[in-house]
Amino acid sequence: EFGEHEGDDKDLAPRPPVVTVMGHVDHGKTKLLDALRNANVVDKEAGGITQSIGAYQVATEVDGTERRITLIDTPGHEAFTAMRARGAQATDIVILVVAADDGVMPQTIEALNHAKAAGVPIVVAVNKVDKPGADPIKARGQLTEYGLQPEEYGGDTMFVDVSAKAGTGLNELLEAVVLTADASLDLRANPDQNAEGLVIEAHLDRGRGPVATILVHRGTLKVGDSIVAGPAFGRVRALLDEHGENIEEATPSRPALVLGLTAVPGAGDNFMVVADDRLARQIAEKREARERNALLAQRSGRRTLEDFMSSLEKGETDELLLILKGDGSGSVEALEDALAQIDVGEGVALRVIDRGVGAITETNVMLAAASNAVIIGFNVRPQGKATELADREGVEIRYYSIIYNAIEEIEASLKGLLKPEFEEAQLGTAEIRDIFRSSKIGNIAGCMVTGGVIKRNAKARLLRDSAVVAENLDLGSLRREKDDASEVREGFECGIVLKGYNDIKVGDIIETYEMREKVRA
Ligand code: GDP
Repeated sequence: EFGEHEGDDKDLAPRPPVVTVMGHVDHGKTKLLDALRNANVVDKEAGGITQSIGAYQVATEVDGTERRITLIDTPGHEAFTAMRARGAQATDIVILVVAADDGVMPQTIEALNHAKAAGVPIVVAVNKVDKPGADPIKARGQLTEYGLQPEEYGGDTMFVDVSAKAGTGLNELLEAVVLTADASLDLRANPDQNAEGLVIEAHLDRGRGPVATILVHRGTLKVGDSIVAGPAFGRVRALLDEHGENIEEATPSRPALVLGLTAVPGAGDNFMVVADDRLARQIAEKREARERNALLAQRSGRRTLEDFMSSLEKGETDELLLILKGDGSGSVEALEDALAQIDVGEGVALRVIDRGVGAITETNVMLAAASNAVIIGFNVRPQGKATELADREGVEIRYYSIIYNAIEEIEASLKGLLKPEFEEAQLGTAEIRDIFRSSKIGNIAGCMVTGGVIKRNAKARLLRDSAVVAENLDLGSLRREKDDASEVREGFECGIVLKGYNDIKVGDIIETYEMREKVRA
């Protein structure tokens, strides 16, 4: 399996945390990334221009030691969750940016939920504290309501006041990231092995061919290594850092631009170093085939509530994850409250991992894909390419306009009631007037159809003096005059053989019925 063979404990060396910046639009994510890049970037030549390669490293001093941090240069939870949907987790810690003048906004919560769904610790940057209307205390109070307790009030989330514009609080923020990583994560990797990691972005460069920014997870990537990156392969012709400078190698958590691939891999693809070019090509080809197959398999099988139920039965899962989208915060809250009342049964949990007001977006779908969740839309529709994406990713979206219906159906699913239910539909009755004995096909009941229609394919039961004497019988044959009939109507005579059942008497009633799938309201 990818990522194993880390070596022994003594082979592991600390590696810098990898950080993604998230938060509401206009709260200063981009500005903060710029400020950190300018103030703290490492290995910068005087006057050198930092290129945007998708990630860069900064350094800060904590307790007299230089500590490095890798920042993913694409802010927001979209890229973060798109990676997770591909099974890749590039981020160790999330910096959640909240503008102190604006406070907690819908995307703040959305970002928070994405980070929580990924199980990634959060450091809060309360930004724009330079602004006149800034209220950093209020922002703390608001986030407390969402489960982020500031450390200074006895919680375990670090909040740092910053101004991306004035450049204040930046070192404190980086220090908070390092301390959070030290407190809750064991970030170590073996640098002395063949490199493995992730592609964080890639494109085709006119002059240089396929160019990929990779993030080394473990091992050390060197110029000349044969690598496979997703369905692409090749030999590392050059490694560049975020300043556009050639480097000889990239160690764990180090982002680097790789030249020399034969094709452009996708963001979120794994890369690894292998023994030689031939092996690299073989693996790349296998991966390509596997990806194609996986895509086909995904398209043919959607992940639905019913699938969830069946995996529940097999003991493969014990949690139904939901994403709620509604037309107003009141309805979303009401829906969530009602869901909380559902008796889900022993050992099973129902968890809402994200909720929000407004149309179902591609981001919602990506989170659902990444987390195996089902999306519930309440009086809202999908937006843009969300439906298409849901189809492609095999995400189920359910639409409701009445809370009761949503609750009832989810409850029913959880109880396994969504397997089709059948009900009996009466077809026809016949009275036995005469009996003909046949050694070949058994006793033939000479009947008069007294109600409805007798059908050849129907199920039958036999009644004697109003009591059922036999159930669940099949018609062995149905005849009208001398001919086989598929059905015989009321008022006509017919001959009926009950398959494998000969204990009939004149005066018995044959009642026929069929099982129909119950129509749900
Ligand atoms: P993003 O959408 O979260 O990436 O936000 P931007 O980084 O684009 O910032 C949005 C706006 O807020 C821009 O006009 C920034 O100049 C401004 N801004 C960002 N940080 C600060 C700050 O610390 N103080 C002030 N006063 N303005 C800021």
